[in-house]
Amino acid sequence: SEAWQGKRYAVYGLARSGLASVEALVRSGAKVACWDDKEEARNAASPFAERIDFLEAGLEGFDALVVSPGVPLNRHPIRELAEKAGCEIIGDVELFARARGTLPEHSVVGITGTNGKSTTTALITHILKESGVPATMSGNIGVPILSQDPLPAGGVYVLELSSYQIDITKSLDCEVAVLLNVTPDHLDRYDGFEAYRDSKLRLFEMQGETRVEIDMRDMKLAFDGTPGGWSASLAGPHNFENATAAILACSALGLERDQIETGLASFAGLPHRMEQVAEKDGVRFVNDSKATNPASAAPALAAYDKVRWIVGGQAKTESLDELEPQLGHVVKAYLIGESEDLWARLLDGKVETVRCGTLEEAVKVAAADASAGEVVLLSPACASFDQFAHFEARGDAFREAVERL
Ligand code: ADP
Repeated sequence: SEAWQGKRYAVYGLARSGLASVEALVRSGAKVACWDDKEEARNAASPFAERIDFLEAGLEGFDALVVSPGVPLNRHPIRELAEKAGCEIIGDVELFARARGTLPEHSVVGITGTNGKSTTTALITHILKESGVPATMSGNIGVPILSQDPLPAGGVYVLELSSYQIDITKSLDCEVAVLLNVTPDHLDRYDGFEAYRDSKLRLFEMQGETRVEIDMRDMKLAFDGTPGGWSASLAGPHNFENATAAILACSALGLERDQIETGLASFAGLPHRMEQVAEKDGVRFVNDSKATNPASAAPALAAYDKVRWIVGGQAKTESLDELEPQLGHVVKAYLIGESEDLWARLLDGKVETVRCGTLEEAVKVAAADASAGEVVLLSPACASFDQFAHFEARGDAFREAVERL
């Protein structure tokens, strides 16, 4: 976009969104240098831009550092280098925000929160598309925003924004902004819970005065079950919250009630989020690998009566506060990963547990124990990195283990 011309950009972190930033900046004639600590990542960017090890060479002479949201700015030396050089720190979403004036007339919906972002983003995008509105989802989900072709006039960019992304976004004025919830997570990157919450609240602070702010923390939602006419993939109270947010956002964008209802009824859901992968002899197997913290595992337990619960991995907290009210739904817990001891201790005297080590073993043991009407649920309340590359790999491993039974 011409909005980026005449400046010198340093792009640090060359995964998908970093690479997309390099390409988009170079294409529009900006001066770009880039770096990634990993050689393969650097090589992927080499045809497009000069490579400079900023950590060695510093950032003097650059106007902006475009950084990947994965870089922990609270403790990474690149931040000090940028500050020393008077170089502002931004992300790919901010580059998009600055280029909006050159795009056909459009709206932006921004979605943040600790849990439910992807589901709500996908649901809003689905409802819009089903209603004939050109829409695309990006940010923390889908294809990087700078790799996408501009939407035709009247289009809606639906952006899932993690707090890391908001931290490196300065001027995104969303027509509609949604905050789903805030519970403790990612505290390794923030100076306490308040700092993490404030990071999410900046999504509202960046909005102009006439914009729509949907703060789901203000809503009192009393509900259990799934209203008739909704997609089966929207089961459980947490999805009632996500669907309510989507309904509010879509009506703020001008959709009619029947358009929204049609979209809600045909939403297929996302993989790894309470995804039923099989039913064998009356036992359902549900993949909720995306539940990487206790607050996201709690609604999954709440959604079923008799759960054989596979839990564990890389623990993020030692607190049972979020999960405790739902333990009545658990018949037995099957512990996996590096936090086996922690879970055995936390659940002691509350729920029967068995140490399984691996996910494969947990699936076998839980399936052998389960009787008709019960659910074998992978909703680990932990990150996956002790045993898997990411939560998707963990969910895939669960599905494969179920298939092998
Ligand atoms: P995110 O993109 O914010 O991580 P997802 O939509 O991928 O959120 O859902 C992640 C997990 O969080 C799901 O597996 C589900 O169990 C749980 N979850 C989804 N929506 C909510 C919500 N509104 N409140 C609490 N937990 C939720």
